[in-house]
Amino acid sequence: MNNKHSTCGFSTRAIHHGYDPKDHHGALVPPIYLSATFAFPTVEYGAACFAGEASGHFYTRISNPTLALLESRMATLENGEAAVAFSSGMGAIAATFWTLLRPGDEVIVSQTLYGCTFALLHHGIGEFGIKVRHVDLTDLAALQAALSPATRMIYCETPANPNLRLIDIAAVARLAHQQPNVTVVVDNTYCTPYLQRPLELGADVVVHSATKYLSGHGDITAGIAVSNQAMAQRIRLQGLKDLTGAVMSPQDASLLMRGLKTLALRMDRHCSNAQALAEALQVHPAVESVIYPGLRSFPQYELATRQMKLPGGMIAFELKGGIETGRRFMNALQLFTRAVSLGDAESLAQHPASMTHSTYTPEQLAQHGISEGLVRLSVGLEDVADLLADVDQALAKCARASVRKAAMAPSAVR
Ligand SMILES: *Cc1c(COP(=O)(O)O)cnc(C)c1O
Repeated sequence: MNNKHSTCGFSTRAIHHGYDPKDHHGALVPPIYLSATFAFPTVEYGAACFAGEASGHFYTRISNPTLALLESRMATLENGEAAVAFSSGMGAIAATFWTLLRPGDEVIVSQTLYGCTFALLHHGIGEFGIKVRHVDLTDLAALQAALSPATRMIYCETPANPNLRLIDIAAVARLAHQQPNVTVVVDNTYCTPYLQRPLELGADVVVHSATKYLSGHGDITAGIAVSNQAMAQRIRLQGLKDLTGAVMSPQDASLLMRGLKTLALRMDRHCSNAQALAEALQVHPAVESVIYPGLRSFPQYELATRQMKLPGGMIAFELKGGIETGRRFMNALQLFTRAVSLGDAESLAQHPASMTHSTYTPEQLAQHGISEGLVRLSVGLEDVADLLADVDQALAKCARASVRKAAMAPSAVR
């Protein structure tokens, strides 16, 4: 593999790492190897591949040249040694859990998690003799108290989905690694390695839903796990090959590499658009509160500036009037698309309590810091003036409606 760009900057590596056209008939764009299986020159060579003594490709569920190029790019961007590509973020997360945890082990997870990760823990590994403990990881004393000799993994998202709560990765990793055999896994979907690199802060594994910002165009589902070489090999040979089989397709790897070429440019624009929207929302009379790591009012503003290069493209906010006003706001949006997912060129709006986090009970929602009126915006790449205008007209509509409702209420009738 060609690594002459290994000392270059982030975008240069995102575009060039591991590939030289002269090795591929001059093709500017890396070819897609659409082949499930690979020929062995001799039976002895095949045997060496199976024994792990030769490094050739032999079956795409284990490795493929197109996937290998993508994996090497993700590894360099996250500053890890190796990466494994999956068909979805949940594929990457499930393979990591099933590889690293055994019955009797304990896993400590943060309070707020992506809905399907929460479901995997409680309806998946939690039913196979692995103890799942939710701990407020912003409270290091609570983490210290929760650690036990059986703890094998600490898992978190930062910023968390959907309430954007941050976790100090360096502090958590320092505490975790006072004990042997604890693996710190961080879901870096919201930030991407352009904004935050957990491995540099002491985490052991980074997982991604590459469906989101990394691909950036909403046209594939994909996942990635990045770690050191030995861990990646375990995740590949157990989690990917045998336990999930959730391999990425080579076409999707090619689309994902196309997305990576513009990752830095896109993230800069997502962040500047989101900053402008968050500031506008914050001073709007119909808005109760805005959660955005780029606002000085953000409770963990200092940690955000220390841990993240920029505040990200996601905003959560609460409207005055709660869940009903929230629904009216959602339905009044014209440019924002009402959809789950995030990180696309198109701006998206969703209501976690009825969409992504509907697997939580009302008690669990409250317990995990997700209020029923919370609206989540994935701010896209459109012109910021158009985004501001759309939010403004939708707020005007739902604010007018709540004034009308107040006027019709019995107390207002004189
Ligand atoms: C979407 C998402 C996932 C799951 O990824 P899929 O690609 O949908 O399987 C995991 N974590 C976070 C934070 C996500 O946003």
